[in-house]
Amino acid sequence: MSRELEVLQRRLERERSARREAEAILEQKALELYHANNALRSLNEGLEHEVADRTAELRTEQTRLRSLISNLDSGVLLENENRQIVLVNITFCALFNIPALPEHLEGADCSQSAEQVKHFFADPDYFVARIETLLLHKEVCVEEVLPLADGRIFSRTFIPVFANQKYLGHLWKYRDTTQEYYAAETLRQSEEKYRGLIENMELGLMEVDNCEKIVRAYPRFCEMTGYFEAELIGRSAVDTFLPPEFLPVLQEQSQQRSTGKAGAYEIQIFKKGGGRIWVLISGAPIFGPDGHIVGSLGIHYDITAQKKLQRDLEEARFKAEAAQEAEKQFLANMSHEIRTPLNAIIGMAHLLYDTQPTPEQREYLDILRNSSEMLRNLISDVLDLSKIRAGHLEIQEKAFDLVGMVRTLVKSSQLRLDDKPVSISLSVDNAIGHLVLGDELLLHQILNNLVGNAEKFTEKGKIEVSVRLVGSSDQPKKIFEIRISDTGIGIPLEKQEMIFQSFRQVDGDIKRKFGGTGLGLAITKQIIESQGGTIQVESTVGKGSTFTVNIPYRFSDIPIQDATYSEQVLQELDAEGKHILVVEDNHMNRKYIGALLRKWQVPHTFAQNGKEGVQIARSQRFDLILMDIQMPEMDGYEASIAIRQSSNPNTHTPIVALTASALISQKNKAFAAGMNDYVSKPFKPAQLFEKIALYCGRAAAGETITGDTFQFHPRLDAEALQVLYDGDLEYARDMFEVFLQNTHSELAVLEAAFQAGDLNAFARQVHKIKPTFAMVGLSDLEELLQQLETAAKTQDPDITAIAARYDTLKADIPNALATVESDFEKLK
Ligand code: ADP
Repeated sequence: MSRELEVLQRRLERERSARREAEAILEQKALELYHANNALRSLNEGLEHEVADRTAELRTEQTRLRSLISNLDSGVLLENENRQIVLVNITFCALFNIPALPEHLEGADCSQSAEQVKHFFADPDYFVARIETLLLHKEVCVEEVLPLADGRIFSRTFIPVFANQKYLGHLWKYRDTTQEYYAAETLRQSEEKYRGLIENMELGLMEVDNCEKIVRAYPRFCEMTGYFEAELIGRSAVDTFLPPEFLPVLQEQSQQRSTGKAGAYEIQIFKKGGGRIWVLISGAPIFGPDGHIVGSLGIHYDITAQKKLQRDLEEARFKAEAAQEAEKQFLANMSHEIRTPLNAIIGMAHLLYDTQPTPEQREYLDILRNSSEMLRNLISDVLDLSKIRAGHLEIQEKAFDLVGMVRTLVKSSQLRLDDKPVSISLSVDNAIGHLVLGDELLLHQILNNLVGNAEKFTEKGKIEVSVRLVGSSDQPKKIFEIRISDTGIGIPLEKQEMIFQSFRQVDGDIKRKFGGTGLGLAITKQIIESQGGTIQVESTVGKGSTFTVNIPYRFSDIPIQDATYSEQVLQELDAEGKHILVVEDNHMNRKYIGALLRKWQVPHTFAQNGKEGVQIARSQRFDLILMDIQMPEMDGYEASIAIRQSSNPNTHTPIVALTASALISQKNKAFAAGMNDYVSKPFKPAQLFEKIALYCGRAAAGETITGDTFQFHPRLDAEALQVLYDGDLEYARDMFEVFLQNTHSELAVLEAAFQAGDLNAFARQVHKIKPTFAMVGLSDLEELLQQLETAAKTQDPDITAIAARYDTLKADIPNALATVESDFEKLK
């Protein structure tokens, strides 16, 4: 075999093995392929299943979605990118009146639909144009409001659909929102209305949350405070607006609000830049949707202008009051300053009568006396008035016999009317059975003035006075109606209000004919009103006037029968067998006293002057002598000295001086002349009656005087001493002794304080010694000391007035001490 064969053989061998190898690979590959095919097949099968499942799922999903969409109460239309309908629901067809079933519309072309339905809309062109814009821009647009031509309102939402940036179509959603829209609109309108209203009312509104952070500020509020709303939101209302001094007000308000009480309050708030305005604030809580308070609404009203006005007014009032106060002070001081010298003038004028004046001088003296007395009356009226105005009128409350007082008043008027054809009568309500509690002196002043006027302005006819109870009887205070009617000249209707004003009279004629100052009624009215009463006048010119006073008093439990003032007591004056000598040169006075004594049935004899008095006293014993002081020929002092010092049956008869002067020095002179007591002229019947009862009553006649009864000097306040010592004369004597031992040194201390100008020390010392004067019955000096104390303790003490009073005190001290000493001797 050749080499070639060998080679060939080898090659064949190689080819064979290669083929075998290849076959094996092929086989292997075929097997793999087979397996792969198998796997693929089974995979495919799985996939098919999955696709079928998925499709089914999708279909269910789609059905669900479809039915969901069909049942929506919004109209939904889904279009594909070619504007063919993919899905539409029944609501959509209903909204646009499309007479087909939704499923029949699928696939339909929508490119003309806008044109077809545009007539539904209020603005068809806008509707079409808007759809084109939306389709062009392919941007979401939610709840756009579309008014319809028939008034309904649709809202529309447009949603373009994209998948992987690829535009697939879009969805339209329409909804009929007519009801909501109008509800919201109504709400908005009413809100607007109220806001407009509030803004027009100039009310600035601001809302804060529960932490006082500003949530909202309305335009008017911003305007008030100078801020923009944006600057305020989120800021603390308190820090921004509240001046610190108003914090308490705010705190009190929120405290009140928490208790359910809300109110308006006034505070200042800061403006932007620092100025302030006054606002009236009222707050209201703001409730959140859950019903909890989420903040509050403050309503601010700018009252800066009103505040300024108020302040101006207050200032003006303050000034006016200060001026009035100054005027009152001035008046009071002036009156006082004038009264003191005037009293001296009057006193001196009286003394001049005793210097044997010529008839001409006497005439001048008469004029001097009349004029000065008129002046004194005027001044005391002015003083009264300023006292009332200054609120210094003191109203006492003591039981008194109102009926008795009116009766006495009417009686003395009767005496005065003696020579006029005018009668006076009184009628009294039977229901008044008790004394009343009130100020007797003030009522006397009131009625005296009214009755006095009636007398003055009535030439003929009558004056009627009536007292009765009016109004309900179960009140503790009863209203007493006191009427004074006259048949006088009357007052014109248009002047009836004016007469109650100071210094006003009906006209100048009245002043010329009747004199007067026009102050009486002004004072009367004020005194009545200060006691809670009223006064009214009804009048017809030429026919007469009726003044009606209504004044409230409580009844005391003392029945009138027990009263000392009433007429029964007057009649009880047992003057039988008593005889009084009246020494009086003045004809009018004799007439007056005579009338009174006749009324009281007291036998009496008149002497026309001092000389005649002394003569009569020599021939007959009297139980009492009433002695005028100023008389021609021989005055009261001389006459008294003569009676006391010559032998006659009246050396021990009580002599009561009738003095026209209130000067203490004159009274002391009377005591020095041996007189026992005095009555100041002009006296009221009651005052004279009291003295007569004192000296001519049974006690004075000696029947009931027992060994224990001690008669204090008339200068001393017997009544007070009786109350104080109640008959214990030993005790009284001890006290008198203590007084006499200490007073000199105490007065020295007082004098030192005064000289040193130390008003405080002076007032303290006055206060200290005052009660000791009361202990010995020197009530007049006690009173004087009281006045001194008050005057020294006032804010702005009137040094001259104090000095004048102190001088009066010092002048009277020697005499007072002598009196106390002599009684002390007697007590021993
Ligand atoms: P006066 O009497 O001092 O002038 P009044 O204040 O008492 O002051 O009275 C004021 C005025 O009222 C009197 O001047 C008089 O014009 C009028 N008037 C008062 N009472 C009567 C009355 N009863 N009848 C008529 N006029 C009267």
